[in-house]
Amino acid sequence: MPTVAARAHQAFPVLDQDQIVSAQRFAAAEERRFEPAEAIYRTGDKNVPAWLILEGNIELSRHDGLRSVAPVTSLGSGQFTGEVGQLSGRPALASANAGPDGCVALPFDAAHLRALVVGSAEIGEVVMRALILRRVALIEDGGSGTVLIGAPGSPETLHLQNFLRRSGFPHLVLDSAADEEGKALVQRLAVSASELPLVVCPDGTILRHPTITELASCLGLVPDIAPDSEFDVAIVGAGPAGLAAAVYAASEGLSVLVLDSDSFGGQAGASARIENYFGFPTGISGLALTARGFSQAQKFGATIAIPMAVERLDCDQSSERMVHVLTLAKRIEVRARTVVIASGARYRRPDLDTLEDFEGNGVSYWASPIEAQACAGEEVALVGGGNSAGQAVVFLAPSVKRLHLVARRDLTETMSAYLVERIASLSNVELHVGCELAGLQREQGGMLSATFRNRNGGAYLEPGLRQVFLFIGADPNTAWLAGCVDVDERGFVGTGKQFRPDIDIGRTPFELETSRPGVFAIGDVRAGSTKRVAAAVGEGAAVVAQIHQALAYAR
Ligand SMILES: Cc1cc2nc3c(=O)[nH]c(=O)nc-3n(C[C@H](O)[C@H](O)[C@H](O)COP(=O)(O)OP(=O)(O)OC[C@H]3O[C@@H](n4cnc5c(N)ncnc54)[C@H](O)[C@@H]3O)c2cc1C
Repeated sequence: MPTVAARAHQAFPVLDQDQIVSAQRFAAAEERRFEPAEAIYRTGDKNVPAWLILEGNIELSRHDGLRSVAPVTSLGSGQFTGEVGQLSGRPALASANAGPDGCVALPFDAAHLRALVVGSAEIGEVVMRALILRRVALIEDGGSGTVLIGAPGSPETLHLQNFLRRSGFPHLVLDSAADEEGKALVQRLAVSASELPLVVCPDGTILRHPTITELASCLGLVPDIAPDSEFDVAIVGAGPAGLAAAVYAASEGLSVLVLDSDSFGGQAGASARIENYFGFPTGISGLALTARGFSQAQKFGATIAIPMAVERLDCDQSSERMVHVLTLAKRIEVRARTVVIASGARYRRPDLDTLEDFEGNGVSYWASPIEAQACAGEEVALVGGGNSAGQAVVFLAPSVKRLHLVARRDLTETMSAYLVERIASLSNVELHVGCELAGLQREQGGMLSATFRNRNGGAYLEPGLRQVFLFIGADPNTAWLAGCVDVDERGFVGTGKQFRPDIDIGRTPFELETSRPGVFAIGDVRAGSTKRVAAAVGEGAAVVAQIHQALAYAR
């Protein structure tokens, strides 16, 4: 049963009279009366408040820019509108009208809604749970949000679909050749094959073959950042480390900006099942875990801009006060008194001449439900011997016909015992130990053949592969720091007195502070860190205490 159908009472709770009275003191303005059927807000409107109904009803309806309007539910006295996007003023994913007798309601704009969920533990829990469940319902339903029309399984469609999935944005995928609605729109707009996929944003705007940045902007995912704004802390990277730092920093009253070039979750977001994270005995997908952190950071008021790449930490623009300048795309500059480098690591690419031709079109660096579905019943190869490779094998094997696992060394040397045991029990996994990927060739019908080289220098061809998955390690994302902070011989960012005993910054550097005062590094990008989710989250918490101290020194 869909998550929300089973938990409707939690998704649409009714506050009792005492709770309404407590909530009233957090409202943004006086109560307002709406006439019968009056429009309160429309899908796609930004900065709409959540409305707590005091009298009458509000009718919620959804439309996805393509389909006709469909009713969602009718809310009555003690109930409130909104979903998790309202915590940061994101565009509404539903429309609201006053009921047939009108209504009286209290507005909670983003700041006041956050004040309510943080300021009243009891009501906060009820409201926060409801906001999250409503987003989950929208994702499960797929009918409110954006519509993607393209060839299912094509690299372009998968690229956008993966972004929407990892951003937790509700969407529906229609086959441009087979689904009636998709076909009709493609014909009506005379869309050529090269203009696919089409995207219909919630407000009806149509994008042809958009980039991720164009899509995100149409969906209102990136907040406007005023050019002269200055934050207490700018966090680069919204993986587990960056999100944890955002939660702790924002909850402790610091003004926080989080930037990520891709989507929240980082490498962990690509993990189908994390089984060793403390407190989750049945395991949890990396996306589900980090989505909680993402909502939590929003709840405490962190400003989150995704996708937004940081191109440079500008060390030339020094200032007497401790202010750092980050250069973003289109030469936008943001200022922050402290910076947290949480840019993690990027999957390693094997040295193959033709690799680029296959990336996103036969070669994948992650294994999500989308890839599992695209490879269902087919043969695939997976290269790598670490834990991330092992998890991907366990996740993919039940969907595919045969999985060739290619590893240089014996799995017991590089992989946790529990994964080695699980893989041994999978009858459709064929092990190629002592081998590496030496080449890729395109076959007819979109299939691939891969050449594997073994230890003795011999090579053999494995034909008929739908997809080759590469899990061969990661290198630090530090190009944007060039010349600004010290890194070790492998490019990881050094921190603390231990890294540079001779360093002179006028005081002892904090444990997570880089060679530049007020610039910190945490998580996988940090030299000597433990490359695990728990360690990244722990450093995200620890760095905030050090940020407070650095800010106090600078005063
Ligand atoms: C498939 C897979 C499975 C895994 N499974 C487990 C597991 O089961 N248990 C476990 O403990 N660990 C696991 N790990 C390791 C774990 O995911 C990492 O240790 C953890 O994600 C590190 O977190 P991080 O925040 O430091 O960096 P990352 O997760 O790498 O996040 C860094 C973020 O920074 C962003 N970024 C980079 N450069 C820029 C820039 N210039 N501007 C803006 N943003 C930028 C990236 O887009 C990314 O989102 C797994 C890793 C993978 C790949």
